[in-house]
Amino acid sequence: MGKVYLVGAGPGAADLITVRGMRLLARADVVLYDALVEPEMLEYCPQAQLIAVGKRCAGAATAQRFINKTLLDCAARFGTVVRLKGGDPSLFGRAQEEIDALAAHGIKAEIVPGVTAALAAAAELGVSLTERGVARNVVFATARVGEGETGSDWVSAVAAADTAVLYMGVRQAAEIAAALTAAGLAASTPVRLVESASRPDCREFSFTLATLPDAAQLALSGPAILLLGDVFRARAALTTPLRAAA
Ligand code: SAH
Repeated sequence: MGKVYLVGAGPGAADLITVRGMRLLARADVVLYDALVEPEMLEYCPQAQLIAVGKRCAGAATAQRFINKTLLDCAARFGTVVRLKGGDPSLFGRAQEEIDALAAHGIKAEIVPGVTAALAAAAELGVSLTERGVARNVVFATARVGEGETGSDWVSAVAAADTAVLYMGVRQAAEIAAALTAAGLAASTPVRLVESASRPDCREFSFTLATLPDAAQLALSGPAILLLGDVFRARAALTTPLRAAA
């Protein structure tokens, strides 16, 4: 039986994976990768067999059950199995389902953390999510409720947060704005949208809660994330975008 490593690929830029993750890629027998993983990252594992899994591949949803099954098959056939997941595996990455499926068959899994999209987006914006005196907590949330799941109380969590980051929310921007307004958030609350954080085609957009519904009309081509809270109030833009350092 092999060992499975759930490796965070980071937000996209090939040099934002950890050294540990890169070393595991270099000795992997097989790599199962998500749609959010950039092709350049696969250059770290020329020796490995590659298996594409994930929602955007082939334009069809690859069922989680199928991914779990493929992981089990790979663990039976190979020594070092890398499951490469966008961002950090522990945030909105369905890591637990994979770990549980493996554990049920006595297969060990280890997580290698990655730079999550929220932090890559903060870096692009050049804004501290916990600016002293302004924000003392950060909520990572999603308004998305998956198939077979009961509702979530993301609204109260986000409304109570000093800084909030919403994953997978852009298409539901209008519903999100309405729900947060109803929960008592000021119409002037600043909101930022970051598309393709850490990638060369990164774009940033500014809204307030009042104008946030417009975000759903944007023609976006990459993954996008919403950030809101007082730390995003306009200030002189004196920041160096993350990718400029690469
Ligand atoms: N595990 C991942 C999140 C997976 S959910 C992580 O830790 O980042 C997928 C969502 O993440 C997307 O819908 C988007 O909201 C966000 N996302 C992922 N990569 C991103 C990027 N480079 N820029 C902006 N948002 C991103």
